[in-house]
Amino acid sequence: MNAPLPAAHFAPLPGCDVEIRQERGQRAVFCGLTGIVWLHRKIQDAFFLVVGSRTCAHLIQSAAGVMIFAEPRFATAIIDERDLAGLADMNEELDRVVSRLIERRPEIKLLFLVGSCPSEVIKLDLSRAALRLSSRLAPTVRVLSYSGSGIETTFTQGEDACLAALVPELPSSDAEAPPALLVVGALADVVEDQFARLFSEMGLADVRFLPARRAGEMPAVGRDTRFLLAQPFLADTARALEERGACRIAAPFPLGAEGTTRWLRAAADAFGVAPERFEAATAPGLKRARRALAPYQQQLTGKRVFFFPDSQLEVPLARFLSREMEAELIEVGTPYLHRGHLADEIALLPRGTRVTEGQSLDDQMDRCRAARPDLTVCGLGLANPLEAEGLSTKWSIELLFTPIQGYDQAGDLAELFARPLVRRARLEV
Ligand code: SF4
Repeated sequence: MNAPLPAAHFAPLPGCDVEIRQERGQRAVFCGLTGIVWLHRKIQDAFFLVVGSRTCAHLIQSAAGVMIFAEPRFATAIIDERDLAGLADMNEELDRVVSRLIERRPEIKLLFLVGSCPSEVIKLDLSRAALRLSSRLAPTVRVLSYSGSGIETTFTQGEDACLAALVPELPSSDAEAPPALLVVGALADVVEDQFARLFSEMGLADVRFLPARRAGEMPAVGRDTRFLLAQPFLADTARALEERGACRIAAPFPLGAEGTTRWLRAAADAFGVAPERFEAATAPGLKRARRALAPYQQQLTGKRVFFFPDSQLEVPLARFLSREMEAELIEVGTPYLHRGHLADEIALLPRGTRVTEGQSLDDQMDRCRAARPDLTVCGLGLANPLEAEGLSTKWSIELLFTPIQGYDQAGDLAELFARPLVRRARLEV
């Protein structure tokens, strides 16, 4: 049983009325391997080779839901007992696996070696393996590595680690070039195309996206780069970009009609877009988004929502639910709270919102049960027990697998939250 936290753990963030509480204890989260599910769809000529155990293989296989005969662009090089006992040379085996893979799949241009708990336990140096394999396979295939290990991480950190590994490899932009906008974070292609159109209508000609859809089209970066985060969990990627001279544009995240407008406006302001031009470019989308949100307002207004920490999207989602759908926030749990990247979001939360950073699972379950929220947003492992207790739940991972950013997805985002409430209401009739 976890002891109650001392009062000193509650701290209002300077300049705002949100209570931040830090909690430590047992956690219930997925590991960073999960990010492969959306990343392999995004970078169309990349392959993700997990160096891990059968457990890792099962996780990624079932999360992606892809049949093996569909030739997915991910696989697991299994570390077996002989490797764990140090009886086999894991590096030699890895080289053999990679050679066979590249022979069989010549379309692969970028190979990620993805570390796991087992590869970290045996201290397999995947960054060195990536260097060795990269020089052997150059110029056809680039090999990079990152960790998707589940030790002390959350599932969205896999994307952060992957993109951070890409940043040092990005070409340098011309030192004399005019400022360019870089949108950072994996977005569904349809969402990326919508944003590209909106930026173009605002007059921003040079807009790039990280990651690009193909390995050979990764964006250039340098002192001229102003970057806009599309996801709130990219702390390492942002740091790596700043080390390359790029500068972050502070903004909330593009969730909901308001979030999307504020996100676009932050970019427009950074590039000196005239207010009339911004209005002309965004007004039709904003109108569509508001219209799409309206049918869900009735279902979500006044509903009491509890967030367990899982995806790191919790704070922007809570802001969307409270400001645009008039839901009531009981507790907003998040695995990590990047005070800088989330400052604009936190400032928009209602006065007195309780944000919990980290997790002590038993304590949080107790608080959730006591509060009996109308809707609980949580990880897969918690959803079934809470549903069995009569609570409506939404899997937070679904919000990563579904396009939810931008004006034309605002209605879908609201519908994702309204659906469990409608389902429960039907069950209770
Ligand atoms: Fe593999 Fe560790 Fe993730 Fe389990 S938590 S699937 S062992 S990387």
